[in-house]
Amino acid sequence: MWWRVASLSRFISTTSSRSSSVNQAAYRLNFWQVYTTEILTRAKDGRPSTVKTPFVAFVLGGPGSGKGTQCTKIVESFGFTHLSAGDLLRHAISSNYENSAMILDTIKEGKIVPSEVTVKLIQRAIESSDNYKFLIDGFPRSEENRIAFEKIIGAEPNIVLFFDCPEEEMVKRVLSRNEGRVDDNIDTIKKRLKVFAALNLPVIKHYSERGKVHKINAVGTVDDIFEQVRPVFTAHEKEIE
Ligand code: UDP
Ligand code: MG
Repeated sequence: MWWRVASLSRFISTTSSRSSSVNQAAYRLNFWQVYTTEILTRAKDGRPSTVKTPFVAFVLGGPGSGKGTQCTKIVESFGFTHLSAGDLLRHAISSNYENSAMILDTIKEGKIVPSEVTVKLIQRAIESSDNYKFLIDGFPRSEENRIAFEKIIGAEPNIVLFFDCPEEEMVKRVLSRNEGRVDDNIDTIKKRLKVFAALNLPVIKHYSERGKVHKINAVGTVDDIFEQVRPVFTAHEKEIE
């Protein structure tokens, strides 16, 4: 299982480095939690085949294309854990995590935070979860992000959802969503759209070539759009039951 291997390698490299003992304890605990969950899963059924293999869906699309909204519906129907890369970064800013000033500046500019920062936040969130199925929303945003994830986590996503939405519709939605975000203003939105076209579309192309992309027409009501999303997951029922 890749998350176990990822946790284990982190565990080994942490214990052999000079990181603080608090960090060491945290990694040890995470590894142990994951390990224990697996053992308990086996014990319940008594068959090793019931051990769950992680299932990762990347959820991509421009700003305001409805990624977060649809993720909430997927969580309700299919029991995924929703990890929004943007929310993890905003949480890092509000909790004064190392690099918080740099992260804030990058978001204000509509640029992409360095991969190692984002991947570390995602990795921690995965390791601290008991779930085995994850929606990673708004990441990877560039080929560099994608390569860093695959290298550090050691896995590719099982599927990729791409919410395809016209730019003018995205602009309208972002300007009316009123969430108090520093980047939901017309100047930053224009920059984000440019960054999306230049850097995120190549990621979608890469996974399309690997047959992993499910393109969703992101114009319509939330429920109409979810009716396109639902069959993507029911097709993977066996892996996510
Ligand atoms: N961001 C980033 N890397 C990520 C995800 C987000 O650098 O993997 C930054 C980037 O500046 C982006 C902002 O966070 O414009 C907001 O991202 P989010 O996914 O929350 O917003 P969306 O563009 O989907 O509205
Ligand atoms: Mg979002």
